[in-house]
Amino acid sequence: MTGMTVEILCVGTELLMGQVLNTNAQFLARQLASLGITAHHQTVVGDNPDRLAEAYRLALSRADVVITSGGLGPTVDDITKAQAARVLGKELVQLPEAEEMVREAFRAMNRPMSANNLRQARFVPGTRVIPNHHGTAPGAIVPAGEGRFIVHLPGPPRELEPMFTESIRPWLASMADRVLVSRYIRIFGMGESAVDERLRDLELGGNPTLSPYCSTGEVMLRLTASAESEAAARPLLEPVEREIRRRLGDVIYDIRDDDGGSLAASAIAALKARGATVCTAESLTGGLIAATLVNVPGASDAVRGGFVTYQTETKTILLGVPADLIERCDVVSAEVAYAMAAGARERLGADYALSATGLAGPGGGTPERPVGTVFVGIAGPKGVRTVELHLTGDRERIRTLTVKHAIAQLLRETRETEE
Ligand code: AMP
Ligand code: MG
Repeated sequence: MTGMTVEILCVGTELLMGQVLNTNAQFLARQLASLGITAHHQTVVGDNPDRLAEAYRLALSRADVVITSGGLGPTVDDITKAQAARVLGKELVQLPEAEEMVREAFRAMNRPMSANNLRQARFVPGTRVIPNHHGTAPGAIVPAGEGRFIVHLPGPPRELEPMFTESIRPWLASMADRVLVSRYIRIFGMGESAVDERLRDLELGGNPTLSPYCSTGEVMLRLTASAESEAAARPLLEPVEREIRRRLGDVIYDIRDDDGGSLAASAIAALKARGATVCTAESLTGGLIAATLVNVPGASDAVRGGFVTYQTETKTILLGVPADLIERCDVVSAEVAYAMAAGARERLGADYALSATGLAGPGGGTPERPVGTVFVGIAGPKGVRTVELHLTGDRERIRTLTVKHAIAQLLRETRETEE
């Protein structure tokens, strides 16, 4: 279908009242964007028959496919299918294949089924019923005339998301006449405006499009080409990707086909590729560097462990940082970060050790060492280095940025050791 337009219609009074965050709209919108499908409108409507019918009429007047979420259950406030039928001038009937799906879902859960649950098997004739592998309410693709469709998905995200991915996404992809292929370029160590300044002319190009996204301390670029096929789209991406690499250099730490990836994932991959290990010695981050590394599946081959040395004395007890060094240089100092990293590496026999000491605030700052002063240490086969950071923001942001800077140093160190 050329220039297909999809509209998202989320049904549920709990959404209007702010009791439940509308994550289904975000999930669906991101999925549509990644398919290259245009979505001009999102609507939220409560469990009210007339207002829902009105929302359907409006959506069908301007979209080819209306995707609903919620209101497929057996209770009286579940009106999503009935109002769609009303707007289409059709009746809901019990479909045997749908009834079998509902009965099977209850059997699989080992739960008795009450009669009202069979309401979940009522659809407009001609509907394609979609199995729900994580709940009892089947979804549906309902023909809505003039080549249009209404797609019904269940409300709970843990049911909606797999149903969309398994059944609706392939169906939508088969109807769209162009494919979108993206490359995701991850950047640490250069701010959004500096990235933007270097790439502005590329962001103005039509195909591929280049869009920056920011999160704490990081920038991600999405480079997307549109063509008749993946084979035709890839060559459009390559020269622009090469130019971005040339302009940004080593602040780019990962380039991939999906929007996953992280500094920690890259660092773990770099360690594993070299058969190397890392350990941590953390003060202000209280274990967050280790936790972030361990969050990567398969980290156990690379992460030896770590020390949470929050109070000053603990740095001496666990890491052997000399008390007089701390006295002389201050606990927030390059010298202490150095000694923490060296002590951890030696004690755990890891190839690399990361340390962090600093002031996350809000209290404790002095004119010489204001809140946000952080020293990161990295010990490796080539010796120990420290980096002094002056971070801004609240306590959470300072700690998060410290974690990212530390892991970025690890990544840099492992990559340099290779050369
Ligand atoms: P329903 O299918 O309308 O009975 O919704 C069941 C549950 O799914 C609700 O109580 C919410 O917790 C959740 N839910 C419904 N719609 C959404 C949505 N748009 N985003 C996130 N969660 C939702
Ligand atoms: Mg509901």
